[in-house]
Amino acid sequence: MRIGIYGGTFNPPHLGHLTAAKAVFELLKLDQLLLIPAGIPPHKPLPEGSASAEQRLEMTRLTGEQMNLGDRVQTLNLELEREGKSYTSDTLAAIRQRYPEAELWLLMGTDMFLTIQDWHQPEKIFDLAGVVAFGRSGEDTESAFSRQCHRLYQAYPNARIHTLTIPGVIDVSSTELRDRLARGEGAHLLPPAVYGYILRHGLYGVQADLKHLTFPQLRAVAMSHLKYKRVPHVLATEQEAIRLAERYGEDVTKARVAALLHDTTKKLDMEEQMALCRKYGIELDELEQKALKLLHAKTGAAIARDVYGVDDDIYTAIFWHTTGHARMTRLEKIIYLADYIEATRDFPGVEELRRVCYEEGLDAGMVLGLSMTVEEMKARGNPVHSATLAALADLKGTREN
Ligand code: FE
Ligand code: FE
Repeated sequence: MRIGIYGGTFNPPHLGHLTAAKAVFELLKLDQLLLIPAGIPPHKPLPEGSASAEQRLEMTRLTGEQMNLGDRVQTLNLELEREGKSYTSDTLAAIRQRYPEAELWLLMGTDMFLTIQDWHQPEKIFDLAGVVAFGRSGEDTESAFSRQCHRLYQAYPNARIHTLTIPGVIDVSSTELRDRLARGEGAHLLPPAVYGYILRHGLYGVQADLKHLTFPQLRAVAMSHLKYKRVPHVLATEQEAIRLAERYGEDVTKARVAALLHDTTKKLDMEEQMALCRKYGIELDELEQKALKLLHAKTGAAIARDVYGVDDDIYTAIFWHTTGHARMTRLEKIIYLADYIEATRDFPGVEELRRVCYEEGLDAGMVLGLSMTVEEMKARGNPVHSATLAALADLKGTREN
């Protein structure tokens, strides 16, 4: 097994880190990449206004998820947990213990590579792992790399070194990036979910009123709440909500906001959902107390209102997006259906449901969508929520009148 180890302060992690990690993963055919935010770095004390250790860990995790490699990319809090200064040699020794048979490769950027002889116990580092250094393509980097390789091989004859220059690697230091963020710039240098996380927590002097975000900001914030694999669903729901709102004369802005925030709490587990229910005084019926899937609509609506300041129309559209209910508003129907038929959905009958939604009207779409849900729940032997049955009865009644 070949394992890459990428440490750094990740304060914050940015697209430069992400591009390099992706390139090395492919070039070295790694089986596993470990991202390790540093605790107290020996070479540079963290500047004031930095994110906390937990925040750097979470931003690093969000960045790792963007590689879309599932379990093959992991973020470890190895160095954050350890007391005192964090030395790379200690980290490598700990990883060697965990994976005695693995081939270890330590990833690093240009600056680190050119100073590695000054680190704590460099001989131990070269003994435990190979070193992969990467920098931006260009003659400067390449000649500096080859001079350094020569020096290192003389001092550490058994060293294994790979250097590579990556075209298009984003060459930005975290220090420079923090300055730019404080001036309201630099968002494009971050994975969107990381930018959203920074906005939510007001890190690095980024000041945003969460109740009045622009759409790009709101989209980034929404992504920071989601598992990476759910991002396409939410973005497609936004697009579908826009189309439905335009088709049926609904407020497009409200539809977009509701769509972007509708699954905000979807990744939370039962305990976290319950904590939010207590916080926001959300009462649950017997079915909801057991059905994790049903809770995210209610807790998501509460977060949307409390944190992001949405109005009652958007609040109820999120609140009812999973079950529906009797006497639904037009916006509620649009969010329910956009979630159901968005472009990434692929299940038997979705084409017909899309056609009905656009050609026969929202109510006809709701009747078909709700009926399909009821049938599916019955087929799986799952109980159907009373609000879903009420929605269906109500709409059928309306349509027959
Ligand atoms: Fe949902
Ligand atoms: Fe959804």
